[in-house]
Amino acid sequence: GPVSGSANLKQVKLERESELRIEVSEEPLRLRVVNGTAEIFGSELPPEIWRTFSPRMKFAVFTWYGATIEMDGVTETDYTADETPMVSYINVHAILDARRRFARASTSNDPESSQQGPRIIVVGPTDSGKSTLTKMLLSWAAKQGWRPTFVDLDVGQGSITIPGCIAAAPIEMPLDPVEGFPLDMALVYYYGHASPNINVELYKALVKELAQVLERQFVGNPESRAAGMVINTMGWIEGIGYELLLHAIDTFNASVVLVLGQEKLFSRLKDVLRSKSNVDVVKLHKSGGVVARVKEVRKRSRNFKIQEYFYGLSKELSPYANTSSFSDLQVFRIGGGPQAPKSALPAGSTSVSNPLRVTPVNIDDRDLLHSILAVSYAEEPDQIISSNVSGFVYVTEVNVQKKKITYLAPSPGTLPSKLLVAGSLTWLESV
Ligand code: ATP
Repeated sequence: GPVSGSANLKQVKLERESELRIEVSEEPLRLRVVNGTAEIFGSELPPEIWRTFSPRMKFAVFTWYGATIEMDGVTETDYTADETPMVSYINVHAILDARRRFARASTSNDPESSQQGPRIIVVGPTDSGKSTLTKMLLSWAAKQGWRPTFVDLDVGQGSITIPGCIAAAPIEMPLDPVEGFPLDMALVYYYGHASPNINVELYKALVKELAQVLERQFVGNPESRAAGMVINTMGWIEGIGYELLLHAIDTFNASVVLVLGQEKLFSRLKDVLRSKSNVDVVKLHKSGGVVARVKEVRKRSRNFKIQEYFYGLSKELSPYANTSSFSDLQVFRIGGGPQAPKSALPAGSTSVSNPLRVTPVNIDDRDLLHSILAVSYAEEPDQIISSNVSGFVYVTEVNVQKKKITYLAPSPGTLPSKLLVAGSLTWLESV
């Protein structure tokens, strides 16, 4: 523990239903609960135990009944707030919990007609607290013994793994406030770009693929079917972004749409979903604690996410460098590709490229340098879109003379597959 009287030691007394909002500086921050009970985004902190929070983390320590918090370190900012939307969030949780119990009860009465638990989709503009509400709902459910499925459709940030992916994972325990979402049981599809704009058809195809796999898993697993899912979405809610929200609501058969912080989106969704009596659209307030992030900060946090994948949260891991011959690997790109001459197209067609076409990439392509490639579970190239991925490698060198490619991988040995998928995601290992 810290030396008593340490210059940076600070105690904060929190009244019931209030929170301590913290932005960690460039140095890690240690924190513990010395009195009462408190949670971080739905996950209760064990009493007395010091936890270390990584640089730049932004979070709140909330207490339902009052607590004293002790901090060791210098923060960017920390302040107490007693106006939070937490009571309305926990009320939503209580309703979801009742629906889960109803689903489970009807399943045990008649296993044949296993009922579906709530399928919640969280929507709202950027920086409305979607990821945070998602975490709370999952942690509160897990605390009560449910194993809900988390679905992440946000290719821009990515909570489960690196950006550019859509993914799902069963949540078995309240989330760790520092580590976040567990990666070990995740089902990951690689889209390869930080914005769905780049290949909307591919994005939709992968969302559909993921939804179908989960649907099949639920058939054999009434417990997780009753626990349902919580889906986190992107902050892009206009134009195509809005269309993609509707597509996700439809594809996952969402039964509860939680709209954070925007009246207009709420009324639009309420309007178009009016005909669906089995979908509830609920408006919730955004927390005043949500920290807005500008474009640059988002880009940086994408880079940190990639760094975390290869090096761990606090650089405690070291990735393995491997070199392979060009002939041992096959790299593919989805969509785009060389355009067919207009004369080669059937009369009347306007589109010249197929967004779902899988094309081989020349491995000596300069563009591969510093790119992130996914290792596909596909056995044949034409299965790439319908296959999830086992992980990622980072291309550090392309040697055209020796026909060799060098890459970093999180684990040693040969890759589980020779089929790799490229996108537009790159990384400069300088952060
Ligand atoms: P985006 O659409 O851009 O992914 P979002 O709507 O999912 O954003 P969050 O990621 O939930 O927003 O919140 C943005 C940041 O604010 C996060 O770093 C989160 O930890 C922080 N944050 C959220 N709520 C609070 C709070 N009450 N106190 C302090 N920080 C908070």
